[in-house]
Amino acid sequence: MKRTALIIVTVVTISIIWSCTSKQEKMENRLKAFISAFEARSIPLYRENALASWNANISGTNEDFAKSEKASFEYARIFTDSIAFAELKEIKESQSVQDPLLLRQLELLYNAYLGGQVDPGLIAEQIRMETEISKKYANFRVDLNGKQISDNEVEGILKNSTSSAELQKAWEGSKMIGPVVAADVITLVKHRNKIAQKTGFSNYHEMSLKLSGQDPAEVTQIFDELDNLTRDNFRQLKGEIDSYFANRYKIAVSDMRPWHYQNRYFQEAPEIYSVDFDKYYEKQDPVKLASAYYNGIGLNVDAILAKSDLYEKPGKNQHAFSTDIDRSGDVRTLDNIRPDSYWMNTILHELGHGVYSYYNDMTLPFSLRDAAHAFTTEAIANMFGRFATNPKWMTDMNIIAKEESEKISDVSRKALRLQMLVFSRWAQVMYRFEKSMYENPDQNLNQLWWDMVEKYQMLARPQERDMPDWATKIHIALYPCYYHNYLLGELLASQISSYITTNVSKSESFVGEKAVGDYLREKIFMPGARYKWNDMIEKATGEKLTAKYYAKQFVQ
Ligand SMILES: [Zn+2]
Repeated sequence: MKRTALIIVTVVTISIIWSCTSKQEKMENRLKAFISAFEARSIPLYRENALASWNANISGTNEDFAKSEKASFEYARIFTDSIAFAELKEIKESQSVQDPLLLRQLELLYNAYLGGQVDPGLIAEQIRMETEISKKYANFRVDLNGKQISDNEVEGILKNSTSSAELQKAWEGSKMIGPVVAADVITLVKHRNKIAQKTGFSNYHEMSLKLSGQDPAEVTQIFDELDNLTRDNFRQLKGEIDSYFANRYKIAVSDMRPWHYQNRYFQEAPEIYSVDFDKYYEKQDPVKLASAYYNGIGLNVDAILAKSDLYEKPGKNQHAFSTDIDRSGDVRTLDNIRPDSYWMNTILHELGHGVYSYYNDMTLPFSLRDAAHAFTTEAIANMFGRFATNPKWMTDMNIIAKEESEKISDVSRKALRLQMLVFSRWAQVMYRFEKSMYENPDQNLNQLWWDMVEKYQMLARPQERDMPDWATKIHIALYPCYYHNYLLGELLASQISSYITTNVSKSESFVGEKAVGDYLREKIFMPGARYKWNDMIEKATGEKLTAKYYAKQFVQ
């Protein structure tokens, strides 16, 4: 090649590289400017929203709910900005952003804004409807023989009573929230679908999953696999449950109905094995235990507990949750703790969410200081929650003696296996019901619900019952298209715990193992949302999300 030609080629090459670099630089600078403006506006509103919601859940007053509604609207309104979305769209479509952190923020921001590209009036209406419904759930108390009782009391009756009539009454009483909210929920579902369709999705379920980085077909495939993996074992266990309770209630197996399973939804394992975990916690303080445990693995939770609201109060939300107020260290949990195994599990669970948030990497940009996905934080929460009924953990925490632990170890393993199978079948109902409901909200939902319950939970529906029992489950109304994440969380909990016991911790309970805290902080909490969830899982455990550890642990 002649010298002049070489020079020309070189000049052309340099100018192509230069123009690419400059386009990359230009787009990355535009994105950086976008992010600065976004953070300046959203960080204070994010915090106000989280605080207002926290306050409303504690007081239950109309005034606080009104404030929460307003704050939620102000925060959601950020993402309805169509000029901002156009800017993001142009940056995204240029495909010029290369920096991995910027690219990941672009992806998350783009999805968040895409979800908000609807008439702000429609969003405001959605939030208004959700707030109204939320008030109805918060203020509902079951009426039993003219006396108002709490959800905790209903669960107590379902667990302890041996009278079929009383069980039925308590169960039916708890379902009376259904007709109070059902019509509102259907209106809300249609409203959500309208929003999804205006954004280019076929329904709200599809939109929710896709915008959170999940492919509905992939999730359904995992649920199908699990259905196949669990069906036979569950049927066999369900047979054991039925004979156990038919005997206890002195009825025929064919007369077993949904109120006979010790839970309003049959979402938790009934106590068919003779181990009563509650008795071990009667004289314990679940908060102290959880605090000592987390401290022992190097994840101190004092700052979280100091800001939390832990016990029952009138008007207060009766459930439990954890919230990250500012992604800068203000992390709290709301609970209604009693000294029993349920609340031991719950406080371990909520603090699992808590440490995931609290130990984030403060050097990451605000948008990435979050879990890789909602279900990855559920996985951590579940992994810790399970310890509440793990004899090894209970021994290592000095809750029970070694001899007692050995005595109950086999039956505890069976109980946990039952718990996982029961929960996995219930999660099937929730996932498939919601999917179908959003695909067609005009179908007979009362019937759809019981069809799903019969197919997956194998319960016999009460004769001629035509009630909106699906609407009694608060998640369907207020935490839509999310429930499947609890099951994905269980799969991942098994995967991570198997990785830790093989590679990190000498002990199955992790008690006192600071290496576990180090591992979790470094591999899971600090990466935050910087990687897509499956990439994070692969980096942390060497494999993408798989059902095999869950199956190994609970099905076989
Ligand atoms: Zn959770």
